[in-house]
Amino acid sequence: MYLADGRKTVEGPSIAEKLEILADAAKYDVSCTSSGIERSAQQGRLGTTMAAGCCHSFTPDGRCICLLKVLMSNVCTYDCAYCVNRRSNDVKRATFTPRELADLTMAFYRRNYIEGLFLSSGVVGSPDHTTELMVQALTILRDEYGFRGYIHAKAIPGTSPELLDMLGHLADRMSVNMELPSQQSLDRLAPDKSSHSLIAPMRRIADSIAQDRETHAITRQARSRLPQRHVPWKDRAYVPAGQSTQMIIGATPESDYSILNLSSALYTKLSMKRVFYSAYIPVNSDWRLPSSRAVQLDREHRLFQADWLMRFYGFDVGEIIDEEHPMLDLLVDPKANWALNHLDDFPVEVNTADLELLMRVPGIGPTGARRIIRARKSHALGELELRKVGIALKRARYFITCNGVWLGGGVDFSREGLRGRLTATIDGGRHGRRHPKRIEGQMSFEDLGVGFSTGGAEPPIDVAVADVRQEVPAMPEQVPAAGLKAWRP
Ligand code: SF4
Repeated sequence: MYLADGRKTVEGPSIAEKLEILADAAKYDVSCTSSGIERSAQQGRLGTTMAAGCCHSFTPDGRCICLLKVLMSNVCTYDCAYCVNRRSNDVKRATFTPRELADLTMAFYRRNYIEGLFLSSGVVGSPDHTTELMVQALTILRDEYGFRGYIHAKAIPGTSPELLDMLGHLADRMSVNMELPSQQSLDRLAPDKSSHSLIAPMRRIADSIAQDRETHAITRQARSRLPQRHVPWKDRAYVPAGQSTQMIIGATPESDYSILNLSSALYTKLSMKRVFYSAYIPVNSDWRLPSSRAVQLDREHRLFQADWLMRFYGFDVGEIIDEEHPMLDLLVDPKANWALNHLDDFPVEVNTADLELLMRVPGIGPTGARRIIRARKSHALGELELRKVGIALKRARYFITCNGVWLGGGVDFSREGLRGRLTATIDGGRHGRRHPKRIEGQMSFEDLGVGFSTGGAEPPIDVAVADVRQEVPAMPEQVPAAGLKAWRP
């Protein structure tokens, strides 16, 4: 801080320096989606939330919105092997005061830089002390500034239930990072955390959300019509956008089978809104971590697709993956893979098939399936009509018939024939995003030996994107059983 004559009055980083350190330290956390709740503007108060959208994502109206993604502090008493903020790393440290963070958020909001806040933190002293700092910052935002924008807060494992409750009534979404898919891996890479300290807050949040919906929703609705500015924290909705979690993929040898079974258990038993998969990015040198510097982005992508099938397409985890084939196919997406393994159910007649079956056709999603059902009420659908309702036939054509006519003419309707077609390199033509756009003589990134940048965040050490099939560490025989049972202490 500086006086008017330019003299420095307080030692330590300025707010701008803190922001630089703490925003940079937060960049590896991927679970920063907003969405799920609507909160309109209110006279005398600030901020709104949209039902969809996230940090650098898009709302249904095509708007890109942004959250201030930052840590309360990157000081941490824990020593997780994979984390850049771990105790044993020699990095610049900083901690916001609650007032600084609240003021900064409001300043950004007023300048229209952000529409909400994603707040995480290292463990400053103890989980309770850290959560207290977060609660204070959010209380200033909500009560003093009347901020109604979206807030996603990370719950620190080991926080007392009372503080979790307070944080939950201030935030829209909460998340406790699962971090690693098994107790065994947690013991190895994050020895300060226990399965109990991760599952207990998740359970608490899930129970509190359910209880809040059942008991308080009606009274809160009645109260919200009153023009009161300060709503007692207990009367605010508890985590109205639900809870999410994040797992690091590729730092430990668990298979996709274990990971997806755990995710399935989290969705069904803890009402998780979303599980995020984060390809492990090597930022530390540590004997406990894989020696490979490959970032398994392909694998992460397939896990997200499989997760999507469980949440929106009605697939059971057992339909997507089994113990005998514990890794997802990297060449074919999980839905197409399921279709190839169930060719007896195909081709599907688009003019008669029910919604559930239509959604299982590769290339047809829930929206497309609903459009088909709506359109066929007025007329029979052929290839032209399907195109008109927005169905991309590139993959779907091999799995459907229109009025008995199969659209995949000329292709062998067998697992091998269709798989060959689905994995064939797509000729992107001379235009569009698949066109390489490389001018003759122009150097490529490979020529220059430039490392890959993940999501705009340059990892501290060179990270190469590699073929994950050769990079997945060998599975130890004692990989724990899938599901939440493996997490019980
Ligand atoms: S608790 Fe572990 S993962 Fe979280 S900031 Fe500290 S060292 Fe990193």
